[in-house]
Amino acid sequence: MECDILVVGAGIMGVTTAYYLKKRDPSKKILIIDKYAGPGQGNSAKSEGGYRNMFTSDTNYLLADTSLDFFLHMQEEMGYDIKMDPIGYMWLFNEDQFTSLKGAIDHMINRGIEVVVYDRSEIEKMIPALVTDFGEDEEAEILGLKNIDYGVFGKKCGSLDADALVRAYEAEFIKLGGKVQYNTEVKRIHVKPEMELGIPGEPFVWQKKVITGVDTNKGEIKAGTTVIACGVWASELLDPIGLDSFMKPKKRQLFAFKDPKIEPVMKTIGLNSEGALPLTILPIAGILLKSELTEGSIWLGCADWIPRKFELEEDPQAEEDYYTNNVYHALVMYFPNFEDVRPMNSWAGQYAINSFDETPVIYKEEGLIYVGAGSGSGIMKGDALGRIAASLYFGEEEAELYGGQKFRVADLGVHHRKIEPEKFVI
Ligand SMILES: Cc1cc2nc3c(=O)[nH]c(=O)nc-3n(C[C@H](O)[C@H](O)[C@H](O)COP(=O)(O)OP(=O)(O)OC[C@H]3O[C@@H](n4cnc5c(N)ncnc54)[C@H](O)[C@@H]3O)c2cc1C
Repeated sequence: MECDILVVGAGIMGVTTAYYLKKRDPSKKILIIDKYAGPGQGNSAKSEGGYRNMFTSDTNYLLADTSLDFFLHMQEEMGYDIKMDPIGYMWLFNEDQFTSLKGAIDHMINRGIEVVVYDRSEIEKMIPALVTDFGEDEEAEILGLKNIDYGVFGKKCGSLDADALVRAYEAEFIKLGGKVQYNTEVKRIHVKPEMELGIPGEPFVWQKKVITGVDTNKGEIKAGTTVIACGVWASELLDPIGLDSFMKPKKRQLFAFKDPKIEPVMKTIGLNSEGALPLTILPIAGILLKSELTEGSIWLGCADWIPRKFELEEDPQAEEDYYTNNVYHALVMYFPNFEDVRPMNSWAGQYAINSFDETPVIYKEEGLIYVGAGSGSGIMKGDALGRIAASLYFGEEEAELYGGQKFRVADLGVHHRKIEPEKFVI
């Protein structure tokens, strides 16, 4: 099989890249392949689907803000039901945390990001089920819990259906004449000398090398350019040919709750039109929860760090005691309604974490483009990443993001990378 561009991986990054490549040059023969039976079945569909434009780094802001505008366009004008619910993001802080972030918050507000700061008494009125002050409580002290003194609320933030989003891009790609082939697993990337001499042992060190396609479980695919958009699996293909994926896989677990006892937690006042709990980040341990309006439930996750290991797992599972013997103790102190409530469902996926700057990486080698290291925000930045990867293919220095904003392609690369520090990371 032969094509102009082969995209390996039908997650958000693969489908957006393929879509913009095909849109910009419909004459190109472009094929997406994935080892699973359909699009998004890697980590994209396992995501929480949270989105926000609330970032302190200008790069992150641009990537997310323009992507969100395009997602809204897909929902409102292109007819895709991707279930964008603008329930907002609420970051909860104690006094010290807030003081250390004050400069970054002012920067966001000055930049025009819709962010509102609430004090404790306002938060208590808005989220009545939340405990904000532990007083002299001994257990809270032992657990190291922090009082809640401030809430920083992002308005252009919320939750969407990541699976539907991936399928929407795939559908648009197919409409343009793009091809997809599932159950097709790449085993190896081909590296050949640009000028083949037919001598055993090629390519030699002195020969110019070029990537010419891949071997799969269904045979060889030759490609002018091979795009590697394999998420946490990227290093399985890149390591053997000496290229770096700049990410490590780390498990992330989600727990869903549906119980009459926690109904008060779901109800808020004055934060969004649904009166629903926004995506809320507690001031310790990266515990986050949100109301999932489509099923009337609450989803809970935890952005843990040390000592949870980096490890690639093919089918990661949620750990039962992770919630019951771990997260629960802190959660129930902030939201007592969770007492004795157990999850009705749970699942796990993996972040492809670039732990250096938590921002995606896009670079090009001869015949290959890598787009990955989505960390915890690959969905919400997906549209911009596809446009930037396509611009890299067409040899442009700047990509045009949705709405006309320009983005320097090399900023997400390796050699001339330019990313500002991000203070709001989950
Ligand atoms: C629990 C959880 C919650 C998250 N929450 C959010 C959130 O709220 N908001 C947000 O923006 N992001 C979130 N993320 C992160 C987000 O899901 C990722 O950044 C994003 O999905 C990465 O997309 P991707 O296309 O790089 O990878 P993937 O979606 O994993 O796609 C990679 C694809 O490559 C395929 N593949 C791999 N190897 C091969 C091979 N050898 N041959 C063929 N195919 C191959 C896989 O099958 C897979 O389909 C979350 C992630 C997790 C795990």
